[in-house]
Amino acid sequence: MAEENSNKQKSAGEKLQEQLSFKFKNQWDVLDADLVSAAHKFSEGYKRALDQGKTEREFHDLTIARLEEAGFKNLDHVDKLERGDKVYRSVHNKGLLAAVVGSESPAEGLILVGSHIDSPRLDLKPYPLYEQNEFALFKTHYYGGIKKYQWLSTQLAIHGVVVKQDGSKVEICIGEDDDDPVFTITDLLPHLGRKQMAKPAKEVIEGEQLNVLLGSQPYPEEALKDRFKLNILSLLHEKYGITERDLITGELEIVPAHKARDVGLDRSFIGAYGQDDRVCAWTSLEALLDAMPQAKTQGILFFDKEEVGSDGNTGAKSDLYFFALNELCAKILSREPSLLETQQMLEHSKLLSSDVTAAYDPDFSDVYEPMNTAYCNYGIGINKYTGGGGKGGTTDANAEYFNEVTRLFEQYNIPWQAGELGKIDEGGGGTIAKFFANAGMNVIDCGVPVLAMHSCFEVTTKLDVFNTYRAYKAFFDHAE
Ligand code: MN
Ligand code: MN
Repeated sequence: MAEENSNKQKSAGEKLQEQLSFKFKNQWDVLDADLVSAAHKFSEGYKRALDQGKTEREFHDLTIARLEEAGFKNLDHVDKLERGDKVYRSVHNKGLLAAVVGSESPAEGLILVGSHIDSPRLDLKPYPLYEQNEFALFKTHYYGGIKKYQWLSTQLAIHGVVVKQDGSKVEICIGEDDDDPVFTITDLLPHLGRKQMAKPAKEVIEGEQLNVLLGSQPYPEEALKDRFKLNILSLLHEKYGITERDLITGELEIVPAHKARDVGLDRSFIGAYGQDDRVCAWTSLEALLDAMPQAKTQGILFFDKEEVGSDGNTGAKSDLYFFALNELCAKILSREPSLLETQQMLEHSKLLSSDVTAAYDPDFSDVYEPMNTAYCNYGIGINKYTGGGGKGGTTDANAEYFNEVTRLFEQYNIPWQAGELGKIDEGGGGTIAKFFANAGMNVIDCGVPVLAMHSCFEVTTKLDVFNTYRAYKAFFDHAE
């Protein structure tokens, strides 16, 4: 009744406004209590995944464990696929394809969500260990777009793999258990920081100063040269059986040691390292696991090396991802797909390039265009295009596909918003979207809005994370 009354009181202009205009909504104003508790619950599993998967390799491994638990089989070990079969294929232990087989020919197209599982970090240099003024340290080379100063005076962990001379592989992870030591890169005290504080932020700390403190206890032989370094080598050998030679070929990554945490008195945010883009990877994985099998084959793609341009055999530019899709098609068809069928598969496929977008931050309001930016708690953020300048270096999704995706979301009550990554000419960024659009797929970028992106402690909201999972699930369940 109240509704009817308020309708009666609306002026003609108000009614027309309601009919013709469109606004995105803060989801706290429209949701129900069930959705809030589901969002809190979902975030618990997500936080655990972030803690367990701080590198692309670790996230790849935990994904495969999760897939196997859900009955997915390694595509390499399967010859023929039928409707409802669940398979995955690793791309050099850093990327993957996982799929649920549909009833239609793959030439009708696939329903895909693709994200990246690498994050900005510090890699060890090839010859990393040295001593200076009676300290032992590791030299690092930063990976991806970081603000170097954010990595000072914070707790760090070492993750990665070292292959020994006999070819065996050792997995290393130090700094995550409560009993583990952590590492740090020391900053200068403010008392002596007069010159440092006058520098532009990008020069406050130089790349060559990102050296990780490892120890100060020497090997107990006073006359020995490099005895501080030797003590660290001795400890590494004792624990892992590795030598300095093995360190050179290893892949060790320095990441923040802190765990994912609820943020805020109301616990509405999640703060953690590496949410770009594991938030989209995790939500798409969970969505695929929960999706109903459909006529079209559904799948997720995880990529490495997005943060450094997607090159290499594990990046989105690698042909291996297309080979994996082709192998999937071949095993569904029980024969080699023809060139035409492969082309049709690419042309008819629908991909959500799922990557995070910048959330509006009132402390830095001058870099955002408020009408065209993503906001926290407003749902999945869609970017029709990314890139920089005059839409350089991007794919621009067409109106038909943009509208199809948003209509699908609306049909299943999935909140969405559209925006750009900041003001025109303020900067920019790219995603994996263009590589698959170049191959002919329908592609649009969408993902979770993030505050403090690329920092050691990125912030998302639980509602956006959960609504993004809901968006991917609706896409898997209903895209045609
Ligand atoms: Mn990203
Ligand atoms: Mn990024």
